[in-house]
This record gives sequence, C-alpha cells and structure tokens, in this order.
Amino acid sequence: MANPLSLRNLLLGSAIGLGLLMSGCATTPEMSAPVAAEAKAELPRTVILVSIDGFRPEYLNRGITPNLSQLAAEGASGAMKPSFPTITFPNHYTLVTGLHPDHHGIVGNNMRDAELGSFSLGNRAAVTDRRWWDDGEPIWVTAEKQGVVTGTMFWPGSEADVRGVRPTHWAVFEQSMPGDVRVDRLLSWLDLPEGQRPRLTTLYFDLVDTMGHHHGPNSQEAEDAVKATDASIGRLMQGLKDRGMEKDAVVIVVSDHGMADVSPDRVSYIDDLVPADAFSVVYSGPVGFINASEGREAEVAGALVGKHPHMECWRKGEIPARFALGTHRRVTDFVCLAENNWVVATRARPLTRAGGAHGYDNEWADMQAVFIAHGHGVVAGRQLQNLDSVDVQPLLGRLLGIEVPKGDGNPADTLPVTKR
Ligand SMILES: [Zn+2]
Repeated sequence: MANPLSLRNLLLGSAIGLGLLMSGCATTPEMSAPVAAEAKAELPRTVILVSIDGFRPEYLNRGITPNLSQLAAEGASGAMKPSFPTITFPNHYTLVTGLHPDHHGIVGNNMRDAELGSFSLGNRAAVTDRRWWDDGEPIWVTAEKQGVVTGTMFWPGSEADVRGVRPTHWAVFEQSMPGDVRVDRLLSWLDLPEGQRPRLTTLYFDLVDTMGHHHGPNSQEAEDAVKATDASIGRLMQGLKDRGMEKDAVVIVVSDHGMADVSPDRVSYIDDLVPADAFSVVYSGPVGFINASEGREAEVAGALVGKHPHMECWRKGEIPARFALGTHRRVTDFVCLAENNWVVATRARPLTRAGGAHGYDNEWADMQAVFIAHGHGVVAGRQLQNLDSVDVQPLLGRLLGIEVPKGDGNPADTLPVTKR
C-alpha cells in the first residue's frame, strides 16, 4: 500500500457521508441524491460473516475443502493475524468490534472483574450480561442503530443486549445443533419479507476447533470436522444460489485463531515456581492469566516475572507492546506465555492428554486465522497480505454502507478485497 493514510481518510470520509445519508441527515452539500443512489446500488444485498472456529489457513491446502477452496479461488483470501490472546471469545469480539481485547474488554474465555465477578463460557448469566460486553460495539449493534436488520446464527456477544441493542434475529448457542441446521436457520431469515430480512448475518461453526482440541490439528478427526464444515459452507452457497442471491451477496469466512499440537510432556507448572496458595489461576493453557493472593504480589512477581525454560511471564503493565494487552481492568496481575507447543498449568490441573490448543503468540504461523471474501464486488483470485482481525469490522461497515466506530484496525488493509 503506497499511501495507506490517505486511503484510510478517503474511506472514512465516504463511509461517514453514506452513513449520514442513509440515516436521513443528508446535510452534506457535496453528497447529492444520485450519488447516494448509485453508491447504494453497488452495495451487496446481504453480507454473511462466517466463523469456523480454530480453522488453520493451511487446512485449505489439504485437498479436503472443495467449497472453501472454490470460494478462495473465486474471491479474495489470505492468512489473518489474530489478536492476543489467540483465544475464542476475545477474537470473535475483535472481529465484530474492530478492537483489540484490551480495548473491548473480553480479554479471555475466563475472566475476573472486580464488580461483575467471574465470566466463563458456560456461565449464562455472565454471557448474557451486557456489562461484560459494553466496552465494545459489535457491528450488528452499529448496523441496527443505523436501520440495518441483522441476524446472528451464533456469535460470542450476540446473546446480550450490548449497549441496549440486540440483533433482530438471534439464537441461544446450542453446541449440539448440526452445522447444516445452523445454515438452514440463517437461510430462512433470508426468505423473510423486506424489512425483516437481515442485510448482515453471522454464522458460527465450532466443530473444527472441538476436534482440533481433542485430537490435534493433524488428526483424522480434525480433517473430518473440516470436511463436514466445508460441506455446510457448500450448503450455504447452494442456498444462496437457489434464492438467486449468490451474485448479490458477500460471504466472508474467517476464523478466530489457529490450532497447535500440545502434549503432557511439554508443560510448565506454575506451582513448581511459587507456592499454590500465593496465586490463583484465572485461565491456563498456552497462555496463563494469574492473580497474586492478597499480600503475596512481591513473592509471585519474584518467582514468575521473566524468562523461564519454556515460558515467559510479565506483570500486567509490562507485556510487550506488540501484544496490545495489559491496560484493561480485567487483565490479571501476571500473564505467562508458553513457548510454542508448550502449555502453562498447575499440578492441581495438569494437562493429561495430547491434543491441540491455541492462545499462543499471535505472530506464530500456527496461530494465524483464515480470511476468505467472496461475492458481490469482491476481486476474484486476489491474495491478501497483512490482514489483521481488527480490520474486519471496517470492511463490514464499508460493505453495509454504514458508519462504524473507529477501532484499532486500518480500513485500508481490506480495500484490496474489492478494489480493482
Ligand atoms: Zn476459537
């Protein structure tokens, strides 16, 4: 990109102008009605954001993804750098808010908050409590506020009325719901009459991540999950074709992070370094989130902070800047990052079997996420470079013709998706 700054300003300017026009405040003299009509006609009829949890970009090279590979060949694709920590809830919220976890507040799948208590994926009271999510504004909230109907066929954050707004259509997460049923539910929303039919939808598949965790990313089980999810993508595309919407839609397939092999032979035990009663573990795995017990901060710092044979630990405020983590109130006193393919654990909760994990350094190749855009206005066969998960939200805003809150991403990074 020769001059990303000017492109960025250009894009922000046009998005804001269009947003104002669409919300009925056409006070900008240079934005005439015909221009607005033309711009609107160029927008896709519907935008579908699909997440395949834990999908490594190289799964596309294994010859088991005919549908996804076709989308990549006919569209724009590339590897995408996730946010740190490379964990599911933080990265899904990054994708839809354009903010790093330190800024949107979902800093882990498990969190502690002085006011709100504990957050975990299975804690429905927490997952549906907007106060955990309100630091960021997901794209469906931005869209609904500007009159765009949205539908979420699962997405972290979509079960709370974030900033007081819910998607028009949404569903309570059911892990047991087969991928094809999720696709059919989403397609049924596209059959609704104008006014109820969503222009932005999300779709979420967890099977690839689940099998990657249980059996590792190179297992037959992981490949079977990739094949099954690829088939669900095929069902989605066929559904769009059947409705005559294929050419008018944009489908964006992303993942939240990659997946790497782990083993009980590669574990760093925190309680081998510091007494178990001196700390509490909020999250452990490739990354450890650790709080010191009352009055034990100096002892824990002395034992943990610095480099160890297979991990490195930092005080909250001293995490290297490239991780963009360490200022949010929910970040623990200490963060320990395991060496690649190692994990951080305690003797009380050891790693007992080999499998797969994520949470590592977000620059590691094994943690990279996938990005594929396909459809209306997307350049065919383009390989994208330097994608970052924080760039997806401004792209969605541009495709929907709405103004989005400025995030941590660079809108110019995704211009090549549609720029000829
Ligand atoms: Zn995930």
